[in-house]
Amino acid sequence: MSVNQQAHTGPPYGQPQPGYQGYQQPAYGGQSLPGVPRSQYGAYNGPMPEYQQPVPPQGSLRAPPTSGAPPPASGASHPSGHLAYSQFEHGDVQNGIPASAAPMQRPPASQPFLPGSGSTPVSQPSAFQQYGPPPASVQQLSNHMAGMTIGTATASAPPPAGLGYGPPTSVPPVSGSFSPPGSGLYTPYSATQGPPPTSVPQGLPVAQPPFPGQTVSTQRLPTQVPGFAPPPPSTGVGPSSYPPTTGAPRPPAMPGPPLPGQTLAGPPSSQPNHVTSPPPPAALAGLHPGPPMSGLHGPPPPTHPPQPGYQMQQNGSFGQVRGPQPNYGGAYPGTPNYGSPPGPPPPPKRLDPDSIPSPIQVIEDDRSNRGSEPFVTGARGQVPPLVTTNFLVKDQGNASPRYIRCTSYNIPCTSDMAKQSQVPLAAVIKPLATLPPEETLPYLVDHGESGPVRCNRCKAYMCPFMQFIEGGRRFQCCFCSCVTEVPPHYFQHLDHTGKRVDFYDRPELSLGSYEFLATVDYCKNNKFPSPPAFIFMIDVSYNAVKSGLVRLICEELKSLLDYLPREGNMEESAIRVGFVTYNKVLHFYNVKSSLAQPQMMVVSDVADMFVPLLDGFLVNVNESRTVITSLLDQIPEMFADTRETETVFAPVIQAGLEALKAAECAGKLFIFHTSLPIAEAPGKLKNRDDRKLINTDKEKTLFQPQTSFYNNLAKDCVAQGCCVDLFLFPNQYLDVATLGVVPYQTGGSIYKYAYFQLETDQDRFLNDLRRDVQKEVGFDAVMRVRTSTGIRATDFFGAFYMSNTTDVEMAGLDCDKTITVEFKHDDKLSEDSGALLQCALLYTSCAGQRRLRIHNLSLNCCTQLADLYRNCETDTLINYLAKYAYRGVLSSPVKTVRDALINQCAQILACYRKNCASPSSAGQLILPECMKLLPVYLNCVLKSDVLQPGPEVTTDDRAYIRQLVTSMDVAETNVFFYPRLLPLTKADVDSDSLPAAIRNSEERLSKGDIYLLENGLNIFVWVGVSVQQGLIQNLFGVSSFGQISNTLSALPVLENPFSKKVRSIVDMLQGQRSRYMKLIIVKQEDKLEMLFKHFLVEDKSLSGGASYVDFLCHMHKEIRQLLS
Ligand SMILES: [Zn+2]
Repeated sequence: MSVNQQAHTGPPYGQPQPGYQGYQQPAYGGQSLPGVPRSQYGAYNGPMPEYQQPVPPQGSLRAPPTSGAPPPASGASHPSGHLAYSQFEHGDVQNGIPASAAPMQRPPASQPFLPGSGSTPVSQPSAFQQYGPPPASVQQLSNHMAGMTIGTATASAPPPAGLGYGPPTSVPPVSGSFSPPGSGLYTPYSATQGPPPTSVPQGLPVAQPPFPGQTVSTQRLPTQVPGFAPPPPSTGVGPSSYPPTTGAPRPPAMPGPPLPGQTLAGPPSSQPNHVTSPPPPAALAGLHPGPPMSGLHGPPPPTHPPQPGYQMQQNGSFGQVRGPQPNYGGAYPGTPNYGSPPGPPPPPKRLDPDSIPSPIQVIEDDRSNRGSEPFVTGARGQVPPLVTTNFLVKDQGNASPRYIRCTSYNIPCTSDMAKQSQVPLAAVIKPLATLPPEETLPYLVDHGESGPVRCNRCKAYMCPFMQFIEGGRRFQCCFCSCVTEVPPHYFQHLDHTGKRVDFYDRPELSLGSYEFLATVDYCKNNKFPSPPAFIFMIDVSYNAVKSGLVRLICEELKSLLDYLPREGNMEESAIRVGFVTYNKVLHFYNVKSSLAQPQMMVVSDVADMFVPLLDGFLVNVNESRTVITSLLDQIPEMFADTRETETVFAPVIQAGLEALKAAECAGKLFIFHTSLPIAEAPGKLKNRDDRKLINTDKEKTLFQPQTSFYNNLAKDCVAQGCCVDLFLFPNQYLDVATLGVVPYQTGGSIYKYAYFQLETDQDRFLNDLRRDVQKEVGFDAVMRVRTSTGIRATDFFGAFYMSNTTDVEMAGLDCDKTITVEFKHDDKLSEDSGALLQCALLYTSCAGQRRLRIHNLSLNCCTQLADLYRNCETDTLINYLAKYAYRGVLSSPVKTVRDALINQCAQILACYRKNCASPSSAGQLILPECMKLLPVYLNCVLKSDVLQPGPEVTTDDRAYIRQLVTSMDVAETNVFFYPRLLPLTKADVDSDSLPAAIRNSEERLSKGDIYLLENGLNIFVWVGVSVQQGLIQNLFGVSSFGQISNTLSALPVLENPFSKKVRSIVDMLQGQRSRYMKLIIVKQEDKLEMLFKHFLVEDKSLSGGASYVDFLCHMHKEIRQLLS
């Protein structure tokens, strides 16, 4: 192989970093199998079916564990994940039309594993419990650093550190029979599961059922919403359900002409979405309970600039009258009667929900239209099927939508057009996304010492869009047009069409996604990295010990350590492990394989953290297995009688960081933490929770960290490649907004288990932990998105750190993390050349191999706005808008954020109405076909816990959800904001399919049925009061509705078809989500039902969120105001 003539001018992401020890990597071509966690779960079947682990307070001495851990890796039948490049065969990809019948070779698919079903009996509803006050802290008498040997549990003398050795506690033998989630991950989601949808191809008219006696416009292309035909402005002034956004004078109350069959009443009851404070308990009808936001009751809000010239119009020509929704009462406090004369409120009238765009219908239509054919990525600017559609992808030159989804696949040519439309141009990128087994993993390309071929000027990587010229001796960059010499070793002749003859042999010429093996130039300090390390850091303060958490974690780790991420075909993981426990002081453990017993080193001077031992702290699991097992057995005993309630937090991260620095490697800290760190130490926090700040200008402070200390710490962590995953077990406020800073900025994850109880929460926690430890992850990652001339990446959303304006740095990046990137014009685009994106992710694999993963995507460009609107993806748009809004709450009042969201969407829809819809349909609400769900989904974002919290939502919940959403992909935001609601009693027990989903509204529920609702974090099983006794018996094993326990955290395992079917559905859903969802049983009319109703997002919410119908009316009015 000849030397690349285009010498690198330096590391592409050069940043001065602490030295890396030289680590020579075996050059093998392959990559780990995506979905490693899942495939590895298969081998995890131990003898014990469940993790029921009662922890008796006293007990006999535990026998030394010798076989607690499952057999080592060899038994895991881990499939070889390595794809040699030679497997990329001719004929797999053909010119133009895909060769769909010739699947590319791939390693044996990961073994299927059946999700078990956890059925741990539950004694208390965990979410509503308060722990009793722990005993007072006792003084630690530890030395600055005390080294000692931990004996067996028979040690009787108190340790120098002042740690009480309690009486030994027996631990029932636990070996890991996991209930693996994930088997259902790509279970075909049958498009035939429901009633046949009225098939509506994308872009074709959607026929809405007209109301009786109502004229439906003949405009067919976009979606029209019948009932939205206000009378002409000249006659249509009148009361309006939503306040105007400016201080326009109130028009006279003069209702428009009624439609046949329509009661001419007051405005529909709506408005709650604009209530920015919890409604006062005794709201008077006709009074606006919230702070002034309408022009009628106060000055216009700053975010709504006056829009003179419009005339307020009645939006009240609704079709059919509907009664108030059940259980919310007609006189919802947030329902003012604008413009109505004093007096009793008029009867509310409602638009028929069946006549407005249905998310369920859109999802079903897409499934039936697009679920059967593979999505072939050959053509530019193709809109992929929806995330809710199960489809296969064939990479023929553009990245799979599993890696990149865009808000629009047709970009306006000019910035003026883009501004006019207000449609954000954004890509949601999941660089290490897991693929279903049927799809081909990115090939690893090894160009040897010369490294990947790149453009001389912009450094874009070789990709299918580079144009070879001069007989193949040079290539013109598709991003910056610069011409670069082809390195001699890379030269190849062109065929008569100008295509290189080795086109199909090279992934980087013919595929949208692939990997390059990085050379030493791409490594910190020009040294190949060492394999990463995992450090487990366990809070052993009173609460953690008392709840059984410490024992649970230690037991789990004994087996979980055998399932650390491995490079595809490696016998064992290259990852080293280390252990720390802490309360007010830190305890490091020497688990060197040559020791008979682990040794503890206590560091009590937490002000200046250092690692008291180097040799023996980070070890290979197999080599040190005996010592590690001994340690994990002893930790729960050592701290069993602790009285220490205070904890530190920042020093814990500092300790892990210092350990990784000393070992000269990247890695991940798994921190298990229970309380607000109030002990005297750097990063000490105070309780500053204050719900009175909600709906004030200071609300944003609740989302901001209370000290900048953690931002600086995060920066240091990113520089070292130290990623932090945080598992929180709070019994009270612990300031997620501050504790989450380091996990968030290092690309880590946060998990929160409020009021953790062993019985109810251990399954969920253990499943999360197993998946988190095992999942595919890259370290020391840097991502850059290059674009063709005319647009550029301007803004980024996600869990990462940025030290400049272009490079997204992540100490760790796992297969679930998503980065949303916004683009802006900096020049004109052309319809001919379109627009290109190239996402390059430089990262270190779990075995320490430095790689580049490249994703390319080509988009169309348009001079007609209609083309933009025809090629949008609303789910992706919502992903962007939610992240944008959730970042906005850090700096702006929440109300300002909500108003801006509404305003932007109104402008998007108004621009369409003005420029793309038929002028003959004035007054109709006309939505672009691809955006007809924008109002319903936007409303879900607006009334989400971050932007409009209910009284039961804590400050920590909001900070937690804010951070979660920021890393979500499009499928996750979709189900999070519009949960999936399945009628379980309609399920066909003889088929694999799911019952057809229904819309999220209480009026869709029948009291004779059982439903399941999932949103990615929770699964509710709602049982109607009139459900047949036989069904209750089959599902819950009790004879009547009254006997169903709503404290179950899992469905009982019963041997009948209905029970099996429901449990298989639950398991399948658990497998589809990146977190194990909490299962909550809700009985109709039970108090827990209020929690459940919060997720019926088409209804009004108790926190003041508008119903879908009301919000649609409001949007219509906003649009009309913008147009007039
Ligand atoms: Zn270039």
